[in-house]
Amino acid sequence: MAFLNIDSVKERTFDAIVIGSGMSGSWAAKELGEKGLKTLVLERGRDVKHIKDYPTTNLYPWEFPHHGVIPEDVQKANPIVNRCYAFGEDAAHFFVKDAEHPYVQEKPFDWIRGYQVGGKSLLWARQTQRWSDFDFEGPARDGFAVDWPIRYKDIAPWYSHVEKFAGISGNRDGLPHLPDGEFLPAFPLNAVESYFSKHVKTKYSRDVISARCAHLSKPNPIHLQQGRAQCQERTLCQRGCPFGGYFSANSSTMPWALKTGNVTLRPFSVVESIIYNEKLGKATGVRVIDTNTKEAIDYHADVIFLNAAALNSNLVLLNSTSNRFPNGLGNDSGTLGKYVAFHNYSAHISAEVEGFEEWATDGRNPAGGGYIPRFRNLHKQETNFLRGYGAGLSAYRGRTSSGEGIGDELKQNLAKKDLGPWRVGSHMMGETIPKESNYVALDKSKKDPWGIPQLKISVDYDDNDAKMKADYLAQLTEMFTSAGFKNIKGESDHRAPGLDIHEMGGVRMGNDPKTSMLDKWHRLHACQNVYVTDGASMTSTSYQNPSLTYMAFAARAVDHYVGEKKKLNS
Ligand SMILES: Cc1cc2nc3c(=O)[nH]c(=O)nc-3n(C[C@H](O)[C@H](O)[C@H](O)COP(=O)(O)OP(=O)(O)OC[C@H]3O[C@@H](n4cnc5c(N)ncnc54)[C@H](O)[C@@H]3O)c2cc1C
Repeated sequence: MAFLNIDSVKERTFDAIVIGSGMSGSWAAKELGEKGLKTLVLERGRDVKHIKDYPTTNLYPWEFPHHGVIPEDVQKANPIVNRCYAFGEDAAHFFVKDAEHPYVQEKPFDWIRGYQVGGKSLLWARQTQRWSDFDFEGPARDGFAVDWPIRYKDIAPWYSHVEKFAGISGNRDGLPHLPDGEFLPAFPLNAVESYFSKHVKTKYSRDVISARCAHLSKPNPIHLQQGRAQCQERTLCQRGCPFGGYFSANSSTMPWALKTGNVTLRPFSVVESIIYNEKLGKATGVRVIDTNTKEAIDYHADVIFLNAAALNSNLVLLNSTSNRFPNGLGNDSGTLGKYVAFHNYSAHISAEVEGFEEWATDGRNPAGGGYIPRFRNLHKQETNFLRGYGAGLSAYRGRTSSGEGIGDELKQNLAKKDLGPWRVGSHMMGETIPKESNYVALDKSKKDPWGIPQLKISVDYDDNDAKMKADYLAQLTEMFTSAGFKNIKGESDHRAPGLDIHEMGGVRMGNDPKTSMLDKWHRLHACQNVYVTDGASMTSTSYQNPSLTYMAFAARAVDHYVGEKKKLNS
């Protein structure tokens, strides 16, 4: 007779399990803990404690062994992650290294990951914009993917909820396609950005606004209660901020969740699968592989929130098979792993600016400058491609020194730095269209170091992306030219998908269980005690940075679950 250690099972049983402790999982944990649910957070990576585990945060440039540059042998060993702009000597310890977590590229895909407590929230550029009905109504209006089961009014209160706690800086710009939020003061545009903003408003009726960003420009009491302080504008954010000046799971939501006394965090725990009980017709827990001991351990709960980041959430569901779900948990529609999409950041443009020499800046704007909200195909279809793009915009003056002379003269020339000319740059942020042919699946032969099948990624650009990119370069060239900027250089960098780090979909929401995986509350249609509230759930991608929306989704889904639970108990 099998021996069942009842106490041990009890110790491994919780009200709720959250898979992943990053941007969205930490929000689920905070909300569950605050609502009194005993919650287990499972995180595949190591623990990263706020401040204590930011080893480079206060280093001077000369204190880095390689002056901030990744050594050549490390670059060669990590060709994928090395392509990410933020992979420097100061932040490399927060990135997954290529060989340690293998995956299969059926088509080239630069999968950039952060496996640790806090996930990629330690690395993000903190750009945060709401979606509007121009986005939620997009697929239905423009005829692609499936209709979103929600509209802006459903998510608006949850944007407010998240923004107030996380702290978002921005102006109330009054744009219907980029709704205002609960903003702290914005970081202002500099002289050249302001000039360009006024110019394109007058000439094109287009907007250049202060970038909206998850920084505490002026903390409110709720931020101080989290132990966070005003952003010091050091712009060393990717090292981890000891002031908690920007939002990360580590400085904000995770410690808050743990302080409720209801949340248990288990790092070094890679979730292999979700356990489905056919008799009960629901999920009863998850199977974890301890990454140190390689031991398999089961944990149990009434509800599971899957927040492993878009493609890993696909992997977990694909690997959760049973008689009832032979093709992955909840996959009655056959859409699991399909309709993956991303953002297209593969074009940029730069120019020189004359005539602002009386203005100086040392460039320390943690928000990064300006933001050009979408202006194409908003009110009507006006181009030969679907949907649209936004863009970043920043102007800056570098410092230059002269390399003239030899000996003392050379030293003096190098030491004396002058402000250089103004330059302006922009990068494209394009929406891509989710298609069935862009998919992820499990590789049948290759396993990772924990015996879990590797993810196979087959995602590519299409003709719509090419046309959109050409339009971005043409429109920005025209706007820069008419603003009087000189020596304009527009470029396409032919990067593989993935490097924008906004992969989404595969577990999309929708009204119809025949064509989608999740209902309007983010529950699997076919297994209603499993919620997916990260990027996997996105029906379409729009062009805005996505993380604010994942956070709002997570908070809304927890509220829904707890509301349903109360109804059952009353
Ligand atoms: C350099 C950079 C810049 C970015 N800039 C922006 C920006 O400006 N604005 C924006 O909105 N977004 C930005 N992003 C993207 C943003 O970081 C992600 O959208 C966001 O972190 C996704 O949240 P998530 O909770 O889905 O995933 P993550 O934050 O990655 O968290 C997922 C967590 O799950 C864990 N996990 C994965 N699989 C398992 C498993 N099987 N078992 C247990 N745990 C698991 C991971 O280790 C990780 O900790 C940027 C990202 C990077 C790297």
